[in-house]
Amino acid sequence: MSESIPNKLVSMAKQKCPNCRKGGMYTNKRIFPLSKMMDMPEHCPNCGQKYEIELGFWYGTGYVSYGISVGLFFATAVLFAIFYGFSYKNNSIFIFLGLAIGLMVLLQPFIMRYSRVIWLSVFVKYQSSEKINRDK
Ligand SMILES: [Zn+2]
Repeated sequence: MSESIPNKLVSMAKQKCPNCRKGGMYTNKRIFPLSKMMDMPEHCPNCGQKYEIELGFWYGTGYVSYGISVGLFFATAVLFAIFYGFSYKNNSIFIFLGLAIGLMVLLQPFIMRYSRVIWLSVFVKYQSSEKINRDK
């Protein structure tokens, strides 16, 4: 019986290595302690995929987290408009901004971690670099 391929989105949600979808990308499964939340092994513990492919590779995650943040901001705006509503007569815009910024700060650790997961999965496809790492 052949082993089934783990689902891409599920393994991304679980922050797994994009090459084998088994090895964890982060040393800690949880975001606490916050000082260690971005700690990653240099290579995938399962397949040996290098995580920081080249020096400065993670700078690209800035674009990803920007995209996530903008998306989150607009999603918050839509939900706020539906459940509370914007009006000139009250302070709704300030309530919204406080809510959106607060949410952004609270979710920042997750945004940062998932930015790396998404960014790496753009460059590393499933089992694309298996051979390279086996030869090491
Ligand atoms: Zn791996």
